[in-house]
Amino acid sequence: MRLLEGKPIALRIKEEIRKRVEELRVRPVLASIQVGDNPGAETYVKSQRKSAESLGIEYRFYKLSQDTKEQELIDAIKGLNEDKAINGIILQMPLPEQIDYKKMSNFISPHKDAEGMHPLNMGKIVFGKAKILPCTAAAVMELLRETGIDLYGKEVVVVGHSEIVGKPLSLLLLERFATVTVCHIGTSQAGRLQEHIEKAEVLVVAVGKACLIKGNLIKQGAVVIDVGINRINGKIVGDVEFSEAAKRASWITPVPGGVGPLTVIMLMRNVVEAAALQYSNLIL
Ligand code: NDP
Repeated sequence: MRLLEGKPIALRIKEEIRKRVEELRVRPVLASIQVGDNPGAETYVKSQRKSAESLGIEYRFYKLSQDTKEQELIDAIKGLNEDKAINGIILQMPLPEQIDYKKMSNFISPHKDAEGMHPLNMGKIVFGKAKILPCTAAAVMELLRETGIDLYGKEVVVVGHSEIVGKPLSLLLLERFATVTVCHIGTSQAGRLQEHIEKAEVLVVAVGKACLIKGNLIKQGAVVIDVGINRINGKIVGDVEFSEAAKRASWITPVPGGVGPLTVIMLMRNVVEAAALQYSNLIL
C-alpha cells in the first residue's frame, strides 16, 4: 500500500502556478467576500491568504456585516465583477440565513468564478471544455494522476453525488473513459452500496459520514480517495475505515492530509487560469 498524500503534489502544482504567474507579468487578484462573523470561515480565509500570497496572488478581503441583505451582497459582487483589477471572486461559507448561497454564487461572473461552481463552468465540463474546475473534484483528479493509473475502462465508483464533488467528478472521470458508477443515499437505502464498493478498482468517497465504508469491502489493489472530513472526539477522520482499507488498497489517501491540501491549491490555479483568460482577451 502506498499513501497518497496531498502535500507533495500540492508543492509541485504550486511551482507550476508560480511559473504561470510570472508569465502573466501582472499580479492576479483574488477577491474574497465574507458575510458576518464565523470562526470556521476565518480559518479558511487565513489559509487562502497564505496560499495566495505564497504564489504571487494578491488576496483582497471584503467583510460585510451579519445583517447584509441579499441585494447588498449582489451589488457588492457586481462591483467586483466589473472591476478589471479583480481576476477571481470567492464567497466564503457559511452565509447568514437571510442569504441563499446558490442564488448568490450565480451572480459571480463565470469568468471570475474561483471555485468553478458557476453553472456555465459546470456545463462546460459536460463538453470537456472546462478551464475552471470545481476545486475538490479537480483535487481528486490530480491525486489520481499521481498514482499513474490509466482510467481507461476502469471500474470507478464515486460515493456521494453533491454538486461540489460527486457530480462534476463523475463527468471528469467519464472524460477519461472510466466506467463510472455514482452511488448516493438511494444506493445505500436500497441496500446496494456494498456490491458497488466491492467491484471498485478506483473508489472515491465524498459523503461526510465517518467509517461509512468498511475497510474489508475494498477490492484488493484498489485506489481509494477519501474526501470525507468528520470530527470524532476531536479527531478528524474520513468516510473510509482507514486501517482495514489500507491492508487492501494499492493507494489510499490519509485524512487529514490527502484531498484537503490540494483543494486550496486548485482554487489558486483557477484564479490564475481566469486571469490568463482575461488578459489574453479570450473573455471579454
Ligand atoms: P454533501 O452533504 O453535499 O453531499 C454528500 C453526498 O453523500 C450526497 O450526495 C448524499 O446523498 C450522499 N450520502 C449521504 N449519506 C449517504 C449514504 N449513507 N450512502 C451513500 N451516499 C450518501 O457533502 P459534500 O459533497 O459537500 O462533502 C462530502 C464530504 O467531503 C464532507 O465530509 C465534506 O466535509 C468533505 N469535503 C472535503 C473537502 C476537502 O477539501 N477535503 C472539500 C469538500 C468537501 P443525498 O444528497 O441524496 O442525501
